[in-house]
Amino acid sequence: MNHLAPTVGNAQLYSPTAAPTFFDGHSPSKLAVLSTHSAVTLFQPLTDGFARRLTYLRLSITDFCNFRCEYCLPNGYQGKPPQDELSVTEIATLIRGFAQVGTKKVRITGGEPSIRRDLVEIIKTVKNTKGIETVAMTSNGYKLGKHLADWHAAGLNQLNISMDSFDAATFHKMTGFDMLPQLLADMDTLLATTDIKLKINSILMAETAFENLMNAIDYVKDRAVTYRFIEFMQTSDNSDLFFAQHAQTDIITNYLIEHGWQTHERGSNDGPAIEYSHPDYQGRIGLIAPYAAHFCDSCNRLRVSSQGKVHLCLFDQGNYDIREHLQQDDVAGLVSTLHRFMPIKPEHHHLHDSNSGMMNNLSMIGG
Ligand code: SAM
Ligand code: SF4
Repeated sequence: MNHLAPTVGNAQLYSPTAAPTFFDGHSPSKLAVLSTHSAVTLFQPLTDGFARRLTYLRLSITDFCNFRCEYCLPNGYQGKPPQDELSVTEIATLIRGFAQVGTKKVRITGGEPSIRRDLVEIIKTVKNTKGIETVAMTSNGYKLGKHLADWHAAGLNQLNISMDSFDAATFHKMTGFDMLPQLLADMDTLLATTDIKLKINSILMAETAFENLMNAIDYVKDRAVTYRFIEFMQTSDNSDLFFAQHAQTDIITNYLIEHGWQTHERGSNDGPAIEYSHPDYQGRIGLIAPYAAHFCDSCNRLRVSSQGKVHLCLFDQGNYDIREHLQQDDVAGLVSTLHRFMPIKPEHHHLHDSNSGMMNNLSMIGG
């Protein structure tokens, strides 16, 4: 298998044995470097061509989702859940390889990860891998109440729950599920009974931003939770809503600064959020601003899809199949392949040009 052959869907675009077809962003000179690159230090941490250390893996374990969030899957998931998702054994190999080259934090995402019946096994497998310090997950919270104790016992350290509104009717309209009171109660149970670090993700929409901010500030007064606003990202499936609702994060930052909230330094394994705290509040307000200048400068992430394809950037034009390594329990081969990806990790996304690469919606690989 040619592990450096980028694919769009299942179509292979470059093969070293055939006449190469170069595609967006990957210059012939870079690929030439790749095809001749051989001396790889197996335990050397992954560092890309822009001196960024990659310590954080986001692993999608399914494309499938039960929700119909209007900015992500407005018509719901089309078709049946895929049958060819990575197995627990393949995931074990994957994580061992990534841990060997410096990954410290793994986020399990989707689609909706909690619809996988073997999720507890997956959490345990990641948690028990030498070198992994933090196991995190992003979920819509549909199964939080039912499985919280099991996720906790399996070793989950951090949970991000997507909750776009504090208003039950708006939540219902945005997701297709009338379950906000239950979700709020389940999150309070999490805070009262576990040490899982809880964050809430909310998409920043012009129409609801101010009301959400006021409610979020009330919510974090007595709860050690970070409520994060994610700037709405345009993908090919959501352009109409994007142009109607996209807002920049300044409207939130300006309010916070004027009202005495202060920023914090990010840790090396942290995600891209800038967090604000206030002495009178237990929790924090966070902002993720992918359209802001220099957002990508501190990227520390790689992504792997539920079919075993590496996405070097969320919004890249293609992906890279590493499944054969996983099927053969070939950690050394995986590590070598990961190193060879480093020169071609893109410097930044092209969202400003309304170009989300191959990402039609974020359920394809997780946010
Ligand atoms: N289903 C899980 C959930 O909703 O938490 C995990 C996958 S979801 C794709 C991950 C995150 O991406 C969610 O917090 C969601 O709000 C965010 N997201 C989805 N589409 C987005 C978009 N177009 N712009 C910004 N964030 C988006
Ligand atoms: Fe599903 Fe998450 Fe997308 Fe909502 S944001 S449709 S919960 S994948």
